[in-house]
Amino acid sequence: MPSPHDLDPSTPAIRFEGVEKRFGDNVVLQGLDFEVARGDRVTLIGPSGSGKTTILRLVMTLEEANEGYIFIDGEPLTHTREGGKRVALKERHRNEMRKRIGMVFQQFNLFPNMTVMENLIEAPVHVLGLSKADAVERGRELLARVGLVGKEDAHPSSLSGGQQQRVAIARALAMDPEILLLDEVTSALDPEIVGEVLEILRDVARTTDITMLIVTHEMHFARDVSNRVMMFDGGRVIEQGDPETIFTAPTQERTKSFLSAVL
Ligand code: ADP
Repeated sequence: MPSPHDLDPSTPAIRFEGVEKRFGDNVVLQGLDFEVARGDRVTLIGPSGSGKTTILRLVMTLEEANEGYIFIDGEPLTHTREGGKRVALKERHRNEMRKRIGMVFQQFNLFPNMTVMENLIEAPVHVLGLSKADAVERGRELLARVGLVGKEDAHPSSLSGGQQQRVAIARALAMDPEILLLDEVTSALDPEIVGEVLEILRDVARTTDITMLIVTHEMHFARDVSNRVMMFDGGRVIEQGDPETIFTAPTQERTKSFLSAVL
């Protein structure tokens, strides 16, 4: 598998081609096409139920599309076309692809029975094959970065929501992902601690070239961090552009009414 660094820079980090996702009779995404260039920070906005989280879960392979194709660095993620047919790729291939992608969830999803450091080293040791010593060293660096030095041995339940989310961000970064998916990462937090989590993400955006796909209701964060905003409605992209344009001069009525409700 080629390293992301060997790739033609014009190859998108993420490409959706004709993606359809249904839950029973509920068609959530239909014929969805879009690309995210490498290093882009794209915020997905749109009404609740428009399929934004489903898109992140598809990229993370937590859900599987019913039709169409998703490519990461030009490589098929879960399905490929063979002789005109859509063919599922093997679990081993999916696992390899998944290593390039990190996700931070609304509800943190830390392992509750593990300490902070155990949370941080679990995947680097078991998935990437790092030595425990190397993983711990990296874990310590990341804890410093998210402002949690000294919390190595704490259990998640003893931490505040903001601290747990900072551990979750550190855990995602511990895998050195090429793509970071952020799903409403501040929605479960008290308003006064939202800022500390957003500040860490701003720092990650400033200091790395990680491609980011962000679902958030924090429009000022979207504006600060992302270079592109895609507005979804009814499982389709109805408008997209740079944040300044979308937030100040949207062309679609649906975008205008959505933004006037959330801004
Ligand atoms: P958004 O993130 O834009 O609010 P979601 O992607 O969470 O939207 O959900 C899109 C639609 O898919 C909603 O109608 C939701 O009820 C449905 N949905 C999402 N996940 C599931 C699931 N696991 N089972 C059944 N329906 C689901």
